[in-house]
Amino acid sequence: MKIKTELMHLTYKHPFNIARRKADQKGGITNVKISIEHDGVLGLGEAHPSPYYYGETIERIIDVAKKAESILATDPFLLEDIIDELYRAFPNAPSAIAGIDIALYDLVGKLLGIPLYKYFGLNPDSTPTTDFTIGIDTIPVMLKKLKEASGYPIYKVKVGVEGDMDMLKAIRDNTDAVIRVDANTGWDVDEAIEKINEMEKYDIELVEQPIPAKNYEGLKKIRQNVNIPIMADEDSVTSEDIPTLAGCVDMINIKLMKCRGLRDALRMIHIGHSFGMKVMLGCMGESSLSLTAAAHLSPLVEYADLDNNLLIIDDPFEGLKQPNGRILLPNRPGIGVIEK
Ligand code: MG
Repeated sequence: MKIKTELMHLTYKHPFNIARRKADQKGGITNVKISIEHDGVLGLGEAHPSPYYYGETIERIIDVAKKAESILATDPFLLEDIIDELYRAFPNAPSAIAGIDIALYDLVGKLLGIPLYKYFGLNPDSTPTTDFTIGIDTIPVMLKKLKEASGYPIYKVKVGVEGDMDMLKAIRDNTDAVIRVDANTGWDVDEAIEKINEMEKYDIELVEQPIPAKNYEGLKKIRQNVNIPIMADEDSVTSEDIPTLAGCVDMINIKLMKCRGLRDALRMIHIGHSFGMKVMLGCMGESSLSLTAAAHLSPLVEYADLDNNLLIIDDPFEGLKQPNGRILLPNRPGIGVIEK
């Protein structure tokens, strides 16, 4: 198998801000497209580096992809062996491994001539509805974003900064849709308890990652003192994190770029469910390529936050569709995306 990397630039319609990170002024990001060729068939993957997780960079992804070629050897159907070896060889490169993992699954699906949902034994009619994310901004800009995205039945509102309860009130005053919120580690324990109880009047479905990661006692205390379900995101990085989170949260958010791709995402879904947790499939700053890869697993989960293609203006791929939020999977072999 031959592996090739290429830079992909994506531009946001509005600069995308969250509690622990402010977007650059131009609102653009660079990802890496990873192609794996075998017998004339091309598997496609995508890596989006998040400095928050292990300080990953574009350079690191390209370096890992180059070194991974010798691990890929000759048989793409030895997926489990290959991915185990990637985990061992590159312990701090989750999105680089995710990009390779996604390309390998795409390749295997194409070689078999079946879409990935079929490879995983899933029903494409059982996909969940994705939310549409409203990033942090001034209240007028947040309301403008809400208006531009009218018709979505679920919004995820980014909070965790000063004035966030006013933002939330303004959004609730302007929509009857389901609202979930994400504090992206922005509160401390007492502030979280106070704000989560206060937001009950806005009929909030769930609260994501109220406090900084690794504070398990803090999460437990919050959960015992509020009624709205709590979801881990920055705390639920890979499948190894889930047993520790049992009893601390009600739900986990899984993202391919954190957990090293489809292989560990599938494991996380099953482990989460076996601990009685509900599961969301989420995303980072990715194109339709890796969003569609994640969407193939979505018939297994209760919640989806697979919307980044809706927030960018220059998606290089066509894949999943989300009319009114409902996820529709392409019916082509592998991931099934087409380059535009
Ligand atoms: Mg989150």
